[in-house]
Amino acid sequence: MSDGIGLAEVLLGLPGFGVLDVVEDDAEVVIAIESTTTWTHCRTCGARAEPQDRMRVDIRDLACFGRPARLVWNKRRWRCRESLCPARTWTEQSEHVDAQAVLTRRAGVEACRQVGENARPVAQLADELGVCWWTIMNAVIEHGTPLVDDPDRIGPVRQLGVDETSFLAATALHPTVYATGLIDLQRHVVIDMVEGNAAADLRRWTTNADPGWLAGIGVVATDLAESFRAGLSPGLAHARRVADPFHVVRVGNRCVDQVRRRVQNETLSHRGRKADPLYRIRKLLLTGAERLDERGSERMLLGLRVGDPHDELLGAWLAKESVRDVYLADTPTDAATLLDKAIVGCASDEVSEIRSLGKTLASWRTEILAHHDTGASNGPTEGLNLCLKKVKRCGHGFRSFENYRLRVLLHAGGIAWPERPRPPRIRSRSPHPDA
Ligand SMILES: [Zn+2]
Repeated sequence: MSDGIGLAEVLLGLPGFGVLDVVEDDAEVVIAIESTTTWTHCRTCGARAEPQDRMRVDIRDLACFGRPARLVWNKRRWRCRESLCPARTWTEQSEHVDAQAVLTRRAGVEACRQVGENARPVAQLADELGVCWWTIMNAVIEHGTPLVDDPDRIGPVRQLGVDETSFLAATALHPTVYATGLIDLQRHVVIDMVEGNAAADLRRWTTNADPGWLAGIGVVATDLAESFRAGLSPGLAHARRVADPFHVVRVGNRCVDQVRRRVQNETLSHRGRKADPLYRIRKLLLTGAERLDERGSERMLLGLRVGDPHDELLGAWLAKESVRDVYLADTPTDAATLLDKAIVGCASDEVSEIRSLGKTLASWRTEILAHHDTGASNGPTEGLNLCLKKVKRCGHGFRSFENYRLRVLLHAGGIAWPERPRPPRIRSRSPHPDA
């Protein structure tokens, strides 16, 4: 390999190091390296140091042609010859390898990027580089935390979205643990994640935030959760509150589902089964009326005629549609008229689920109508929710909220990852022109 040493050094690409030897087996590539430094000064007294001996240090680096790479660094120990100098001996350092580190710096930075930007599983990176799970996670924490804490990551925010996501599914030992996501609705970026979904959790976050930054937020969009409404004050009491349209419509849908389940149970004495008339139209009932084709509406009406003897479910469906109509209105005045009509209609209904929908609408009337003035909606954040789910799935569930938060923010928090130079194309013309 001696005539290939120069080539090996080009491949290695670590300035300040020379390659002594390369051996490989099926499991890994082992590269013996040495620093090219030939002399140095004592850092304590400044005298010229004398080389003493070398010690072997094993470090993992970026994978090499599909196999984990191990650097064996023949690390130089230096000695100070001045008899009065307290320095005695020390080992050489490198900017590429932190003391006691298992990974080279560049491998740690790349692992952080793969786990953060690409939401790849930590275990996959650990396997690829030939280290344990914690080595990768520690690299993500070490290199990712400064990126997430960078004050330039979040600029001024005009429209803030507050949305809850489940963080841990319920087990025998604990109920579902929720997390609250704070989102810049205009840049579509996750600003922060807070553990919990109670008013106090949100309030704690606004208390710690910069008051000047909070003052710049003009609009806050939330779902119809009382805890969020309460948690916004005092920190965000100045902002215009908007009930997110997606969640408003969902409240209507939930009412339809509740009535459907109850009527089903009362008429058939069992929960929905595949052949039950109402169970068969459960999805049609939640589809917007304007999106049902002729066949769909016929099937739905038939199902209702057979399975809904007292027109209770029909009433809930109409109530849900009256909520959706609010968002079809062209002007704020029309929207207010339609919403008030829906509220009055629900309030006078005999079905308790519909009356309770009316109460919710009445209690959020101002926030629901605010959407028509501000246009603010968490709609764009539904795409972000997919990102969060991706992070969660690739972690196979998280035990540490801090790690979850870090990985969500690295993936969807608007990090400016450094651009990489693009290699030139190898073929000037694609063999498949349409590909
Ligand atoms: Zn010295």
